[in-house]
Amino acid sequence: MSTFVEKCDVLIIGAGPAGRALAFEFALLENSVIIVDPNPLEQWKSTYGTWVDDLDNRDDASELRGCFQRTWPQVRVVGRLEHQLSRPYGIFDNRLLQKYLSHDAVSFYRGDVVRVQQSDDNLLQVHLSTNEQFEARTVFDCGGTQSSLLLRNNQYTGGFQSAYGVHTEAVGAVQADSFTLMDWSTPPGASASPATFLYAFDLGNGTAMVEETSLVEREAVSDAVLRQRLEQRLGRELSQATQQVEHVRIAMGGSLPSRFGHVVGFGAAAGFIHPVTGYSVAASLRAAPRVARAVSDALVRDEGVEEIARVGWNAVWPISFLRTRVLHDFGLAALSRLTTADIQVFFDYFFSLPQSHWSGYLRIDTKARVIAQNMTRLFFNVPLRIKIKLVRKSPLGLIRCLLPGRFL
Ligand SMILES: Cc1cc2nc3c(=O)[nH]c(=O)nc-3n(C[C@H](O)[C@H](O)[C@H](O)COP(=O)(O)OP(=O)(O)OC[C@H]3O[C@@H](n4cnc5c(N)ncnc54)[C@H](O)[C@@H]3O)c2cc1C
Repeated sequence: MSTFVEKCDVLIIGAGPAGRALAFEFALLENSVIIVDPNPLEQWKSTYGTWVDDLDNRDDASELRGCFQRTWPQVRVVGRLEHQLSRPYGIFDNRLLQKYLSHDAVSFYRGDVVRVQQSDDNLLQVHLSTNEQFEARTVFDCGGTQSSLLLRNNQYTGGFQSAYGVHTEAVGAVQADSFTLMDWSTPPGASASPATFLYAFDLGNGTAMVEETSLVEREAVSDAVLRQRLEQRLGRELSQATQQVEHVRIAMGGSLPSRFGHVVGFGAAAGFIHPVTGYSVAASLRAAPRVARAVSDALVRDEGVEEIARVGWNAVWPISFLRTRVLHDFGLAALSRLTTADIQVFFDYFFSLPQSHWSGYLRIDTKARVIAQNMTRLFFNVPLRIKIKLVRKSPLGLIRCLLPGRFL
């Protein structure tokens, strides 16, 4: 026997960055919002970074910029060559971002959603593991990559990004005034495989975050391997210096959830993780106003549950962005087959493109046609041996990239 708790316009499952960002936008549009999460007010533990200008599409970009713990004017990428990119990058202060994304019209409930079912044309019932029950006119699953409430045709993923990171005293490998996004040099004494890179930044208080990362592998690389490579890179053991450990395991690429369920996905649950970078926070912040506006309008029109879900899915994944996704999946497939030496060269060419070309590729909401044009340019620039690998491994994907007019 369920206990009825409360009714609202919008119920959001998950209080991560996606859930909070979406709840905030719905509340600004005067909807009643409930977020259900096992620990709804807990401070996020992951280190969230983004290119600062990825927030520019929001009206409140300057307020969001106020939520950074630190920003850097330059980003460093090392392939065979060293690139200093003049594009600011920031790391969020999670406490500030969570505070900014708060709104009085949002209520938080501690709980685990186990089932959502339609009770009539206009209402969904949301059941918690405690037998408590909520009613809502629309429900969003922002439960992250482990979410189980969306319809999925299959569980295919393109692979896993893994990282092992520590906060430690500042070390020579970390430049103070530049954010090291990727240093693909092979750690001294380490083998070239698995392909890993250093992600690192100086926190300005005598400490630094250093993280050995595997961009994507079919199977996640173990912490032990990543830690050893990090020690080889830093030239010392980490045991005493370690203050805090960050483990990263992100499922990359692969199938998106079905668009036909009455629960709408958003954020990592909906496949917002960029198949090549593993990022989704800025993508959720960019998409939240668009999705909330479309669904809020449908609520005002008094549409039924199914129509609201249809509107929601169309705003979450407009067809044009699904085309972009096809190209990103091709990028993931191509990169995961390159050796470390190839990857170093690939990123040298990638980051030698004009900034507007590579920056668009790193967003999930850039028009497919634009990405296809830029990737075609990249394809013609890279050395023949990399071209051959790309052609051999995924001819269909490559044709899609090279003939955007026909296939997109
Ligand atoms: C360590 C780490 C570092 C990362 N760094 C970056 C970065 O620098 N930049 C970037 O853009 N991305 C980064 N990512 C990738 C990605 O953006 C994050 O995973 C991000 O947290 C996804 O946000 P989300 O809100 O979609 O999901 P999550 O943050 O996973 O939040 C989901 C929430 O839903 C809750 N939940 C799940 N199921 C239920 C249920 N049934 N009922 C109720 N609640 C439920 C979970 O408990 C959780 O609180 C990182 C990922 C990790 C793991």
